[in-house]
Amino acid sequence: MTKPRIHVLALGGTIATRPDASGAMQMGLGADDLVAAVPLLEGVAKIEAETVSRVGSHSLGIDLIHTLAAKIRGLETDGVVVTQGTDTLEETSFLLDLLLDLDIPVVVTAAMRNPSLTSPDGPGNLLAAVRVAADPWVYKNAKALGVLAVMLDEVYAAADVAKVHPTRINGFAATQAGPLAALVEDRVVPMTMPVRDAVVAARRKLGTAGGKPAPVALFWTSLDDALPLVLLMLAASDRVGYRGAVIAAMGGGHVPERAVDNVVRLAKAMPTVISPRTGGGPMLRKTYAGPSSEIALREAGLIWGGRLHPLKGRVLLETCLRAGLDRKAIAELFDTFG
Ligand code: GLU
Repeated sequence: MTKPRIHVLALGGTIATRPDASGAMQMGLGADDLVAAVPLLEGVAKIEAETVSRVGSHSLGIDLIHTLAAKIRGLETDGVVVTQGTDTLEETSFLLDLLLDLDIPVVVTAAMRNPSLTSPDGPGNLLAAVRVAADPWVYKNAKALGVLAVMLDEVYAAADVAKVHPTRINGFAATQAGPLAALVEDRVVPMTMPVRDAVVAARRKLGTAGGKPAPVALFWTSLDDALPLVLLMLAASDRVGYRGAVIAAMGGGHVPERAVDNVVRLAKAMPTVISPRTGGGPMLRKTYAGPSSEIALREAGLIWGGRLHPLKGRVLLETCLRAGLDRKAIAELFDTFG
């Protein structure tokens, strides 16, 4: 049987670090280095390796992910693996999922433990990611699965995956939906399919979202904070340049009562999305009364972010604004996320 062609695109991150003279880890390895460190890959796929950047994912840009998506669209291959840092994997994989509509698997992976540590996870994660990208079941269901994240022998949907620990080797999870598949021995064992109707519908409206960058601010609500920074931001909006905002709200979609005026003012100035600061899961729509309740905030024009993590809500809002969608279209699109 001919082996599938898998294109490995390296962006940087811990998986691609090496120690400098002081022993501190520096970005440095490219795609060829990563592939060369895992001889078993040869038995799984015909690998093409390409280095796109050598930066920590905390410094990746949204534009670069758009360029990456365009590059992936142009590849002649049977599957794609992107390696990057873990810090923004939950955002970049979701953005790729919004931008790509392909018949081939696209898998993002990374490493929690750098190559100088005992039992680094980079080589194992790369092997697992290539196994997933080369797997016949994944290939057959690539369109329905969308972009995948593979970490520590588990496979996650891009809309659900989150980094849940800063350093632990099991730093990733899909807390709402769980993993889609697991790897054991040399097999990919499918477990469930993701529900992606909202992503698919969003993609139809977004196209390739080729417009100009549209910076989106993210505010986190917290005990007794009136969010006065919102007012400063609005007063200096020309200099600050934000075109939309996400508010990570409490519980089912609430903000502190003393923050309501500022939040409503923000929603009048730019599309403003309410997302769950719990990190995901559907919010309420019609349970609580009062000025800081979900009912009042929805009536005041706040866009309901649905089940998406605030970080993913921010990615979606930026993509909507870039694509030129108006407030009404953005609200309808977010509405499909629950
Ligand atoms: N902050 C770096 C990054 O995201 C290192 C973290 C990592 O890769 O695990 O690239």
